[in-house]
Order: sequence, then C-alpha cells, then structure tokens
Amino acid sequence: MWKPLDTRGWRERRRGDISGVLGSVREIIDTVRRDGDAGLIELSRRFDGFEGGSPVILPEEIEEAYDEVDDRLIEALCEAEARITHFHELQKSRSLWLEEIEPGVTLGVRTRPLDRVGCYVPGGRAAYPSTVLMTAVPARVAGVPEICICTPPPGDPLTLVAMDIAGVNEGYRVGGAQAIAAMAIGTETIGKVAKIVGPGNVYVTAAKMLLRGEAEIDFPAGPSEIGIIADMTADPSYIAADVLAQAEHDPHSASVLVTTDAGLADRVGREIERMLASAPRKEIIEKALAHSGYVIASNRAEAIRVMDAIAPEHLSLQVADPMALLQEVGHAGSIFVGPYTPVACGDYASGTNHVLPTAGYASVYSGLDVHHFCTRSQVQILTEEGLDAIGDVVEALAEAEGLAAHAESVRVRRRG
Ligand code: NAD
Repeated sequence: MWKPLDTRGWRERRRGDISGVLGSVREIIDTVRRDGDAGLIELSRRFDGFEGGSPVILPEEIEEAYDEVDDRLIEALCEAEARITHFHELQKSRSLWLEEIEPGVTLGVRTRPLDRVGCYVPGGRAAYPSTVLMTAVPARVAGVPEICICTPPPGDPLTLVAMDIAGVNEGYRVGGAQAIAAMAIGTETIGKVAKIVGPGNVYVTAAKMLLRGEAEIDFPAGPSEIGIIADMTADPSYIAADVLAQAEHDPHSASVLVTTDAGLADRVGREIERMLASAPRKEIIEKALAHSGYVIASNRAEAIRVMDAIAPEHLSLQVADPMALLQEVGHAGSIFVGPYTPVACGDYASGTNHVLPTAGYASVYSGLDVHHFCTRSQVQILTEEGLDAIGDVVEALAEAEGLAAHAESVRVRRRG
C-alpha cells in the first residue's frame, strides 16, 4: 500500500479530479440560478439527505447549540480563536500610508476591507468548526462588515458555536457546489457576496472555479495534501502519523514523502501499516493512500526539485537542519519546520491559517490571510512643483504612444 510514487504529472493529476465533476457541477449551478432557495432545498435533499426547509440558521439555534457542546470544547475554540486573531492582527496594513518621494510628489497606499464575503465551511465527511475560525477571523480582523457562512446541513453544534465565537451572525445550512452558487449568484435568502473563501471537496472547488467572475474566490483549496522532506534522522512514526492525518480528510487526499534514505521509507511503511490497523477512518485513508507514496532522491538537491514540482499544500521538513532547508525549498502553502511541528497544530491552534492552495496552486497563490479580504488603492498627490518635476516625462511618453489628450491633461495644468 505504501509504495514508490511517480510524481511526474502530479499537478495535472490532482487537477484532473476537479475536471471530472465539472459537468455535474454546472447542472447544480444552473439549478440554483433558476430556482433560488427552492433549488437549494431540493439539492440539499438530493446530496445531503436533508429534509428541512429554509437554509437560514437562526440565532436561537446557535444559543441551543451551546447547550449541546462540552464546555472544554468551547474553551478550546476560544483559545484557538485568540491565537488565530493574534497572528492575523500582525498581518494588518495601515489603512493609509503616504510618503513624499520627492518634493511635491507624495505616494502611498490606502487599504479598505471588502464589503461582503462568503465563507464555505466543509461538513461532508467531517465537521470543520476550525474552518469557521480560519475563514471568518481574518475577514473580521480585516474589517469586513458582512460575513456569511455556508456549511452542509444539518450543521453540527460545534460549527454553530464557532460561528458565534468568530463573531459571525449570518449562517446558512447549505453545502457543496450549491452553497458556492448561492453565495456567488444570490438567492431570496442568501445575499450575493463579493468574494468566496474556504476549502472543500472536488464539487466545492469546481464550483469556485466555474463561478469565479460572478464572485471573486480565494484560490482552489481542494482535497488536502502533505509533502514531507525527511532524512535518516527523522522519526518514522512521526512521518507515518502525519501521512495518516492528511489521508483521513478525503479519499482524494494525498501524502508524499521525499527522502534520501530508502531505509526510512520502509520504516515509515511499517509504521503506517501498524497505525492503520486501529485508525477510525481506515476506509478513507486506504483510498487516499492509493495515490500517495514515497520518492527516493539521490541527494538533497534532487529532493528539493521533486518537492518543488509538487508545490504541496502543506510542507513538512523533518531533517537534521530544517532551518537551512527552509531557505532552500520552493513554493508551498504552509511550511512546518522540524520534528515537533505537526501539521495538525497549524490546522487548529498555532494561529496560522489552514485554508491553503492545493494541486500545485501554491506555486501561484498564498494561503488565506488578512490581505485576501482587502483592496489596496495606490494614492498620489502632486503639487504644482511635483507636476513640473514629472510633467516632461509624462508628456513625452504620452505623445510617443499617440495619446495626445493624455499629454494635454498635463500641459493644460502647467500652462496655469
Ligand atoms: P464538503 O463540505 O466539501 O462537501 C460536502 C458536500 O459535497 C455535500 O454537502 C454535498 O452537497 C456535496 N456532494 C457530495 N457528493 C456529491 C455528488 N456526488 N455530487 C454533487 N455534490 C456532492 O465536505 P467534505 O466532503 O468532507 O470535504 C472537505 C474537503 O475539504 C476535504 O477534501 C478536505 O481535504 C478539504 N480541506 C481542504 C483544506 C484546504 O485548505 N485545502 C482545508 C480543510 C479541508
């Protein structure tokens, strides 16, 4: 089951899972566009077996959810929320900075939060209250005034409590592609949003790709992945545990170990067999392991090259000198340095974000952060002196491009 893996064509294979469902996702989108809330109710019945009516989660349901949840879990969510808030506060830009670059020429950037965003919180094979925090907290820190959340029905109590802790009071029990369509297009009850963020399975990710344009999206954040670079000093049980942790998300999840030590790959395989025997989500893990495995690299440079071609969502560095390797490795969604940094800590509570690009998209997108929820407008203020300083250059280039009106808009001011 744990086997050598050919990683050539990795990104294409990972993206292929999404193309395989595009047809059915188009039909779901058409249904929501045509039938609105009635379409959502019908699709929730078909795909989630949910017989309830309106998708709106009422405030009293959130209050009731508190009674169903263990106090220790509420405390854990509050602690995670505080850490996530702290880390995302550090990313905030000043709402306006200006600097006089030369006499009479002042430049700067003004930052504004988006008006309304939609967060998708998965809930098919597992409940993800942690994703409520990972999506809504950065939006709140950025200052977004309207944040709505969609999560598959019926919506587990801890997810509802997490909404309250994150400060979100607009929630809907609707999942999959239909939730993305509802937020992108708008229905009678769900207002259209400017941007949709959050992870999901292949249906969710395909819908985000198809609806981009009607609403902006963060990036494709589909079935989870881990890439691990390890050497002979690594503990095989740590690696096996990390492989299983990623594999238990989804049958489409994938884990890749790249190592210079063939013996380590074997030891990891034995640990995986041992741990799998008692794993509660064995069935999902076995399916995910079918497209996971290891690569034996002839040296460190080759290991880095192989991993760079994957650009994994999570990258774990379990080598003797992980800080040096951190400087050498290529693109990755989020990087976990050293043996005591399991991905699970970033998934829940260290404070970094767990919404990350998959399928090689880490080579062009960054994981979710405060900047995803803002626009930045560049600002300039010229005085007469400043206009004189750059006027000749502007007039010359405008004339050269044949844009005489551009040149005149400068000249008319300089003539006074
Ligand atoms: P989900 O909420 O993404 O999907 C559940 C929904 O899928 C259901 O509500 C249903 O409407 C729809 N669906 C199911 N079968 C369907 C079908 N045959 N046709 C059309 N729609 C169908 O929950 P999930 O399935 O548990 O997946 C969560 C995903 O999120 C996993 O793949 C996990 O790896 C991923 N994840 C990714 C990140 C990241 O940042 N990349 C983070 C956390 C989780």
